[in-house]
Amino acid sequence: MAVMKFGGTSVGTARAMQQAIAIVAEKRKSGVPLVVLSACSGITNKLIQIAEAAGAGRLEEALLKAAEVRKHHIDLVAELVSSQELRQELAGKIDVYVTHLEMLAKGIEIVGELTERSMDSFCSCGELLSTTVFAAAMKEQGHQCQWLDVRQVMITDDRFGFARPIEEICEANTAGIIRPLLDSGVIVVTQGYIGSNTAGKTTTLGRGGSDLSAALLGAWLHDDSIEIWTDVDGVMTCDPRMVPEARSIRVMTFSEAAELAYLGAKVLHPDTIAPAVKKNIPVYVLNSWHPDAKGTLITDDPELLSGMSYDGLVKSIAVKKGQAIVNVRSNRMFGRHGFMSELFDVFERFSVSVEMISTSEVSVSLTIEDSSASEPLIQALSALGEVEIEHNVATVSVVGDNLRLSKGVAGRIFSSLHNVNLRMISQGASEINVGFVVEEHDVTAAVSALHSEFFSGQEGSAIFEKPAGR
Ligand code: ASP
Ligand code: MG
Repeated sequence: MAVMKFGGTSVGTARAMQQAIAIVAEKRKSGVPLVVLSACSGITNKLIQIAEAAGAGRLEEALLKAAEVRKHHIDLVAELVSSQELRQELAGKIDVYVTHLEMLAKGIEIVGELTERSMDSFCSCGELLSTTVFAAAMKEQGHQCQWLDVRQVMITDDRFGFARPIEEICEANTAGIIRPLLDSGVIVVTQGYIGSNTAGKTTTLGRGGSDLSAALLGAWLHDDSIEIWTDVDGVMTCDPRMVPEARSIRVMTFSEAAELAYLGAKVLHPDTIAPAVKKNIPVYVLNSWHPDAKGTLITDDPELLSGMSYDGLVKSIAVKKGQAIVNVRSNRMFGRHGFMSELFDVFERFSVSVEMISTSEVSVSLTIEDSSASEPLIQALSALGEVEIEHNVATVSVVGDNLRLSKGVAGRIFSSLHNVNLRMISQGASEINVGFVVEEHDVTAAVSALHSEFFSGQEGSAIFEKPAGR
């Protein structure tokens, strides 16, 4: 059967939650799904703000925000649940979580220190709350379903804020706890993103971690599909806000999807892909507002891919804004070894991840997140050579498995971009993407030019679908 994961916007309001419940109910006609939810949209951010306010001694602000979290969920219940008795029961459950939040905030304020460990306790409340409301509403509507605290199953290491599961334990727990419920016909509703270490302390898998939870649980259950329900029409040829002709892509390979995710497409977290790839489980990216649209299927399974072949070159164009180019120029590089390792050592020391890189004998250009281009980092780099920073740039990448085989792609890319000032160019070793850097204000022009170069004439292809409602 399937794991169905709903993201924050797909459970953020009563209307969205009701829509998600209807989608699960429809699926139930052909099997018993495991439902994995994110927190309601905006709630995880608010929980972080609460934690930070408490850590900075602003208890009043923390408590005010905690009250907003309570109100959001009480309002959801008021709209979704009709029985007075059930409403009261849920108000009680919501209160337990929010009281826990308030106590945490008070404790942090007294201690004056916010650790990763306590941050995870704050953050876990979002998913615990959304699933509590969802499961109760689903049950009230006559569906056999059960809420499950995923911390009984998802046992992780101690890396608070970025925990990873201890797979053997989790797999056994999934078989022992979730499987029997599903087999007895009960829909299981549980949390993405959170887990527990072996000592029972709450952990999280990192922001956006619910997709990973869903993929892991699907792999442990040996499910036949993983459905990621969001508020966009699957993976698209490019951001439809930039190019109205953007299409949803019906199928992609895992390598294309992973590449896109790394390159800035917001749909899937790259780590999500790994557990599914390993087990060859197809992942569907679907829009809960257009449940009948086909969405995007991500798979390497030749059978599923058959009839979906694509002879175009580019599958999708990804953009990452908020980047900076760092140029380091030094004559010391010339004919000398060890320079790169010294250079990367600096980034390592500052925990800054380098995205794109291109080098010549005497200079290196690379991109990093603009926000991490700090003064101390630049100073440390200056010890190696002359440093120059360009802020407010974006990386634009074209991705497609067919790029590997074709000649002349770079030529087409760069001639279509004759009006755009290219700041840097790089071709990934994976050979399925070509990327370059432009100033942020040139992004839309660059993406439109590429889209018309590579996609016009392809609109009729079986692998593209016009997004519903456009
Ligand atoms: N609620 C968490 C977050 O906002 C996890 C997720 O939505 O995937 O990061
Ligand atoms: Mg999310």
